[in-house]
Amino acid sequence: MPKTKTKFDYDKYLRKNTLPHIWCPGCGDGIILKSLLRAIDGLQYKKDDIVITSGIGCASRLPGYVDFNTIHTTHGRALTFAIGMKMYKPRLKVITISGDGDALAIGGNHFIHAARRNIDITLIVFNNYTYGMTGGQASPTQPYGSYATTTPYGSVEPPFDTCELAKAAGATWVARSTSYHAVQLEKLIADAMTHKGFSVLDVITNCHISYGRRNKMKSPVEMVKYQKEKAVPNRSAQNMTAEELTGRFKTGLIYEKKDSLEFAEENYKKLALLKQ
Ligand code: SF4
Repeated sequence: MPKTKTKFDYDKYLRKNTLPHIWCPGCGDGIILKSLLRAIDGLQYKKDDIVITSGIGCASRLPGYVDFNTIHTTHGRALTFAIGMKMYKPRLKVITISGDGDALAIGGNHFIHAARRNIDITLIVFNNYTYGMTGGQASPTQPYGSYATTTPYGSVEPPFDTCELAKAAGATWVARSTSYHAVQLEKLIADAMTHKGFSVLDVITNCHISYGRRNKMKSPVEMVKYQKEKAVPNRSAQNMTAEELTGRFKTGLIYEKKDSLEFAEENYKKLALLKQ
């Protein structure tokens, strides 16, 4: 007789008194939340050992919905709070949830220094190319030529590539997935969490409300179709020309460096020496 698949118990990780959530129907943020819970469950972490910090924005509402140690902080400062948590209690698994504007514009300074320090925190960037909550202003990842309330004639700024930026600043684990590739996403979140050092996962997700409808993708389906068609597995991208990669993005593990010095651990070693 075939084995019956056990239904995943999402309820045990949710704060039901904070639901329903405020995300628009079809928003990609819910898929990332689902993958995050499944990854944590798969790794068998205790709820009390997880800390989630966030800044401001649609993505940053996530900690309010989950039953871990969570803190919803000020705009762009999710990583600074995360660093404080990790330094105070290094045994905890610290995850930071941030939108593209929150992580790379307002919090850009904290992003590069967390990467430089290689602190053992997992940053998940919910990258929907826009400031969704405030109505669709251009963010630093907005594709060249695309439209926003602040770029009504098309953006003329080259966008940040979250992964290249993270790698250049010193992050030791860097990857990308999308809200369409939910199975890959769950695996990459688990891999990021088990990496020792600063891990950055850029997740291309859909804001059909504030970004999509200005860019001929007004439904969630059109947006996930975009994610499916534009994603190029990193391994295949190695054999493609710059021209072939224009307008597309690499997915999967982009960069990994093992056995690098980790900030919290190094600090505690120094402190131990001082106490001798
Ligand atoms: S505005 Fe965009 S990012 Fe925010 S909840 Fe709605 S679809 Fe999601």
